[in-house]
Amino acid sequence: MGASSKIAKIDSEEMFLSADLDTMAKLEEESKESRPPLKIVWRNIFTFSSAHIAALIGMYQFFFVAKWPTVFFAIFLHFAGAMGVTAGAHRLWSHRSFKATLPARIIFAVMCTLAHQNDVIEWARDHRCHHKWTDTEADPHNSKRGFFYSHVGWLLTRKSEKLKEMGGKIDISDLWEDEVLVFQRRHYLPLATLVCFILPTVIPVYFWGETPLVAFYVAGMFRYIFTLNSTFLINSAAHMFGYKPYDASISPVESVWTNIQAAGEGGHNFHHTFPQDYRASEFGYMTNWTKAMLDGMAWAGMIYDRKTVSDEVINRQKTNRGDPHHAHHHRH
Ligand SMILES: [Zn+2]
Ligand SMILES: [Zn+2]
Repeated sequence: MGASSKIAKIDSEEMFLSADLDTMAKLEEESKESRPPLKIVWRNIFTFSSAHIAALIGMYQFFFVAKWPTVFFAIFLHFAGAMGVTAGAHRLWSHRSFKATLPARIIFAVMCTLAHQNDVIEWARDHRCHHKWTDTEADPHNSKRGFFYSHVGWLLTRKSEKLKEMGGKIDISDLWEDEVLVFQRRHYLPLATLVCFILPTVIPVYFWGETPLVAFYVAGMFRYIFTLNSTFLINSAAHMFGYKPYDASISPVESVWTNIQAAGEGGHNFHHTFPQDYRASEFGYMTNWTKAMLDGMAWAGMIYDRKTVSDEVINRQKTNRGDPHHAHHHRH
């Protein structure tokens, strides 16, 4: 407690990862001339399709076959993985919106591995590109290419030369200095297989006698694909369907239902406007579970230096740049 429970105020000028408007305008001009065609990666289509079929079997078993402890275990694992991504890969490692002790970083890395959304260094590099060059050819999940592309299509196609070139320009040296992330990346596949699939299968079988295949399909495949799609919705739906109280000129929106599913990441118009605010939205504890977890960890001294933007700056931004029709409804 003590110093760790203090909250640091930041001004919108010192925002890390604000949109790089000049480069974005240049990329826009370029893409008007020619937009590179997408190259399909059939191997990824096969993997994703198989995983979704397995998840459908798991969904059926979740409702009609699995034992109660397995059902609760799968729900628990969903939120543990989702919050590992939101608190760790996203708010800590992509945005540096707070600082974390070694134990906290190890916990976040395990939770991220449970969600199995690529290793954190790769995740954070993609995400930094997404913020810096939102909705251009340098944004890995450019929502101008449509719902499906920004949801999952970007993972089923080869990265364009432009994406690779721009991704190489993003500074991720801070990530390579984190020994937890380097360890995770070096041993990523065996770690992900163990944490995302083997343990979720073994634990229900060993502790409450669940059938091995039911444990695998429900707590492994269904839970994994559910979490994955919850995160994907932030890149697709939360860039399309909702309101814009903070900046009406950008594609990210406020979306209450994705906020619940993704444990507090649905305040996406706020988040793209103030990317270094650890709260990622003005939603309260009821839906921003990631914020609740982070505040608890700060209280316990595991994380510190949480950054927030002052209400005064937020209100000024709303008045100047927000969509006036929805400015008063953002808490609904
Ligand atoms: Zn972000
Ligand atoms: Zn976004």
